[in-house]
Amino acid sequence: MSNQENNSIHDFDFSLICEYFSSIKRQGPGSEASTHEAITAIPNINSNFIIADIGCGTGSSAIQLAKETQASVVAIDLFHDFLNKVKLNAELAGVSHKVSTLQADMTQLSLEKESFDLIWSEGAIYNIGFKNGLQEWNSFIRKNGYIAVTDSTWLTDYRPAEIESFWLDAYPEIDTLDNNITKMEQAGYRMIKTAVLPNDCWTKNFYEPQENAQNVFLERHHDDFTANELVKNQRHEAELFAKYNSYYGYVWYIGQKI
Ligand code: SAH
Repeated sequence: MSNQENNSIHDFDFSLICEYFSSIKRQGPGSEASTHEAITAIPNINSNFIIADIGCGTGSSAIQLAKETQASVVAIDLFHDFLNKVKLNAELAGVSHKVSTLQADMTQLSLEKESFDLIWSEGAIYNIGFKNGLQEWNSFIRKNGYIAVTDSTWLTDYRPAEIESFWLDAYPEIDTLDNNITKMEQAGYRMIKTAVLPNDCWTKNFYEPQENAQNVFLERHHDDFTANELVKNQRHEAELFAKYNSYYGYVWYIGQKI
């Protein structure tokens, strides 16, 4: 298969994925209450603050940051379609003057060194890996600046084989909270706070809105293999969460660059 064919298949997959996830408010588990709690953990976010929201999706956290603080927010994502939604949502929320967008790959960011006061990333750092992301992004944060990320985390030392193998396949770097704190400290941060996201961040705010979206999406793409696989995978993930949510969850890791 030629590269060109490969590219076109990937482009098609990506456009389907974007279409699916654009139809829901959040592209990962989270909530306004949980974002608010994380914002309040960071002292004195003032009008001089420049925040990067990396892997911002359609902008739920970027827009909340702009609404709740005096800071400017640069919303960064790989997908143009998501960023278009960020712009639209920022306008609707009346904060478009405080939110700019940047299409970039988080694994190859060419941002100016020490140019951000705060790096934010909800449900996205797994794309570069927790440890790697914390290390790479450190250079973009000014001294004594902050980082706040959520990542999936083992909540127990042992777990049933079914859920262990699912996550090791989906995200081999998933680790325990204690090990992640060590990784964060080794990457040059002082821990400020960790907090496990409540279950409704996954159920009410992420899996349940998908149920309706899945029906609409499948009506439109009922004979498309990739679309059917995408929905099958999302449904499987939701079933596993219902069964095994005591063993894993998303955790806030909030720290200050030393
Ligand atoms: N923060 C949002 C979206 C989380 S989903 C929310 O909580 O709703 C993960 C996001 O990471 C998606 O928007 C996806 O497009 C983005 N993403 C995935 N790989 C990326 C990469 N290599 N560079 C930048 N963004 C990426």
